[in-house]
Amino acid sequence: MHDLITRNLCILGSTGSIGMNTLDVVRAHRDQFKVSALTAGRQIERLAEQCLEFRPKIAAVHSATDARTLKELLEGKGLSIAVHHGEAGLITAVSESDCDTVMAAIVGAAGLLPTLRAAELGKRVLLANKESLVMSGDIFMNAAIRGGAELLPIDSEHNAIFQCLPPHFTSPKNTSRMKEHLGVEEIWLTASGGPFRNTPIDQLANITPDQACAHPNWVMGRKISVDSATMMNKGLEVIEAHWLFGLPLEQIKVLIHPESVVHSMVRYRDGSVMAQLGQPDMRTPIAFGLAWPNRIDAGVAPLNLTQLSGLHFTEPDLLRFPCLGLAFTAARQGGTSPTVLNAANEIAVAAFLEGRLPYLKIAQAVEFALNQLPSQKAGSLDEVLTVDREARLKTSDWITRQ
Ligand code: NAD
Ligand code: MG
Repeated sequence: MHDLITRNLCILGSTGSIGMNTLDVVRAHRDQFKVSALTAGRQIERLAEQCLEFRPKIAAVHSATDARTLKELLEGKGLSIAVHHGEAGLITAVSESDCDTVMAAIVGAAGLLPTLRAAELGKRVLLANKESLVMSGDIFMNAAIRGGAELLPIDSEHNAIFQCLPPHFTSPKNTSRMKEHLGVEEIWLTASGGPFRNTPIDQLANITPDQACAHPNWVMGRKISVDSATMMNKGLEVIEAHWLFGLPLEQIKVLIHPESVVHSMVRYRDGSVMAQLGQPDMRTPIAFGLAWPNRIDAGVAPLNLTQLSGLHFTEPDLLRFPCLGLAFTAARQGGTSPTVLNAANEIAVAAFLEGRLPYLKIAQAVEFALNQLPSQKAGSLDEVLTVDREARLKTSDWITRQ
């Protein structure tokens, strides 16, 4: 057992699904975790309540107007907490709150810059925000290596794989050793298949946002719920795994596993297959990341294998899930293609959630953007951000023409 130390947390996206689950784990272990900074997009009242309960030094929100409202709300409760806003505010929360651990739980590209800063500053980065790694894989991993960051995956599949690797696989520097030294042949990412796993394909045209967000096994934010329905989420996770574990794409497989009990697996050279099992509850990977290398109570119900009717695994059908195929294409192209894939998908999913784009056109929008913006070398962060902006503009234009 390692000595318990108090960790100081900055939670980026504290009002979202991962953010609130993180605070739920922290609430049960107040002696081990202090909250230094909390940030949110627009949910000001929820953030104010969290500030009252956890007393961070810094809070940050998206707009200047919301920052003023939050400041008034906090002062009304007798709290003097520094309130910042915008991208700079998120970065301030990471760099000036004395945190040693950053939970990266903002959804989408908005999370990139503060998460990258946390990596550069050598923090323990609990990575839920997969979009930031997909957008800027090489740049992000290099920043983590240079900064000496501890990168711990929170996405349940990647957390499972991390748990199935030998204990000395703890640093981004080790990714190149996977094949030679660890004997890893393949990793198998499991996927539930989402709410439309068995829906006849001709009935998918009129899917509504609420139907797409009604995930059978997990409760999550709306963007990732739609990504799970289209399986773009698994596509993003393949790219995430490629960067986190330094494995070539041919060694990363996707399996549909409707029960969501086996969270992912590693197949080794000697024939062993290691799996991590558990309830589909994000508090398990969150507690793992917070306490690593120790284990703490996550408040999760124990898994009872005798109550399961079975565990099933099948290969995904790329005709049913074209977004997964597009993600594999973008991953193989490399360079800026994953940036384009991610940006186009964010725009298309937002349009779908606002009722401006039919469900089946999400994949078409992403395909359009990938065809319009051929892969280039993702040499610098500026180049990545420029391509991200171009892909968003082109996708938005395409959507208005539908
Ligand atoms: P969510 O929508 O519930 O929460 C997102 C958080 O980000 C909120 O706090 C929101 O206020 C904040 N935010 C949104 N836009 C912002 C902006 N422009 N600036 C600042 N803050 C902003 O999402 P979630 O389900 O908690 O997912 C968060 C991240 O974790 C995503 O990248 C998702 O892919 C990943 N993830 C989530 C789950 C899950 O179970 N929910 C599982 C694996 C990975
Ligand atoms: Mg996942």
